[in-house]
Amino acid sequence: MRKLQRPAEPNCLHAGAPGWTEDYVVGRERNPAHPFSWRSDACYREIRDRLAAMTQRHCAFCDGQIGVVSRKTIEHFRPKSRFPELAYVWDNLFPCCDLCQSSKREQFDPALLKPDDPNYAFATHFVVQYKTGEIEPSPHADETARRRAEISIRLYALNLPERAMARRREWEHYCRDPEACLDDYNYRFFLE
Ligand SMILES: [Zn+2]
Repeated sequence: MRKLQRPAEPNCLHAGAPGWTEDYVVGRERNPAHPFSWRSDACYREIRDRLAAMTQRHCAFCDGQIGVVSRKTIEHFRPKSRFPELAYVWDNLFPCCDLCQSSKREQFDPALLKPDDPNYAFATHFVVQYKTGEIEPSPHADETARRRAEISIRLYALNLPERAMARRREWEHYCRDPEACLDDYNYRFFLE
C-alpha cells in the first residue's frame, strides 16, 4: 500500500454528487436492495481514469497493475452499503483490483489505513520480508500503527501465499532488470 496524492475531483462528480447521493440514500431507506449506479457512463469513465492516473494504473491497496490481469474497479473505502452518504464522495473512491475488492467486500474497520491520508507512509507501518514475500506490521511502529497495519493486511488479504510468491518473483525480476522503470512493475512498495 503506497502513499497516494489524490488529484482534484472530476467536475462531473462534483456537479452530480449532491443529487445522486440524495437519490441513493432515499432509495436505500425505502428499499435496502436499491441498486447503486454511477448514473453517467462518461462520468464513471472520467472518475476511473483519474483514479488510475493517481496510482499509475496500480491497485491502491496491493499495487498490482490493473486493467490487464484484473478489471479496473472502483472501490468504496467506506462501503456504500454501510455508508450510502459517501457513495459519491471523491476521497472515498480508490482504484482497486478484483482480488482486493473481493477480499474486503463490505467489511470496514475505522483502523483501516487509507493510502491518501497525509499522515500515512508505508515505512512507518510496514516492513517487507524479501525471503517470504510477505509484508508485516513494522516492529518499530507503535501499537496503534501496528494494529492498523495488521487490519489492513487482513482485510485486503495482502499476505495470501500466491501474493507473497508473486512479490518475491517480481523482486527477483526487478533486480535483474538494469533499466527497470519502477512504475512498470507490480508491488512497488516491495521493490523501492
Ligand atoms: Zn489489489
